[in-house]
Amino acid sequence: MPWTRSQYPEDWEAIATQVKDEAGWRCEHCGHPHDPEHGYTLTVHHLDGDPTNCDPGNLVALCQRCHLSIQARYRVGQLWLPIVDPPAWAVRRGLA
Ligand SMILES: [Zn+2]
Repeated sequence: MPWTRSQYPEDWEAIATQVKDEAGWRCEHCGHPHDPEHGYTLTVHHLDGDPTNCDPGNLVALCQRCHLSIQARYRVGQLWLPIVDPPAWAVRRGLA
């Protein structure tokens, strides 16, 4: 694969759209629908922080607000100790 760790894959847009489709265009963390006008633009987060790792288990559809808080609070391999109840999307991916 001609990717470097700093690059998203060429078909990233299609991959991201598929993740959002599968999430029903709602944030998988808070359930808020995609609503850019009100600050809830749906984004796709790489759980391990590596944009070349587009395994479905590494991608989660999050609104901007959850994206920021989850990016700050969770990394793959870390325990969920600061979070009492792991979110459903993490359980679905076998991360919790
Ligand atoms: Zn959210």
